[in-house]
Amino acid sequence: MKKFLNIILLIWQAPQYLAGYASSRAWKTWFEKIDNSVLSFVQKTEKERDVKIYVVTKESHDSRPLLRHIASHSSGKYICVVFEKDQKTFETCIAHELGHASQSKDWGWLYLPVIGTASVCRNIRCQITGDWSNYFKGFPENDADRRMGIVR
Ligand SMILES: [Zn+2]
Repeated sequence: MKKFLNIILLIWQAPQYLAGYASSRAWKTWFEKIDNSVLSFVQKTEKERDVKIYVVTKESHDSRPLLRHIASHSSGKYICVVFEKDQKTFETCIAHELGHASQSKDWGWLYLPVIGTASVCRNIRCQITGDWSNYFKGFPENDADRRMGIVR
């Protein structure tokens, strides 16, 4: 029965699974990946939540002028994050991306057009203005936070 449900979930989220898989390959290629084995939190989260998490160093991420504007993101079960600042900030970032993974399960094929487009537009607007103070206050970022109990 679980296998059947996994197949249904795969079909339901197929577009973001494909996009997430492609994105995670590029993420691993462009940046220096941190070995997940040193991050027990990542391994535990992957197992508990049935997601794949790719963590890259901030130094390698920021060293690419054009690519560094691609922030931590997720699509389906694939989560790509930059290890920034400290462990607490990192874990909050992972939790936020898990909120997007939850949205993916609810929105199905509408996830990329609705959640993905809105999130990318918010991100671009903040990068242009340089003002990130309201980034997590609007949809879909606030919804991803709410799903994981994140209070900013
Ligand atoms: Zn987000």
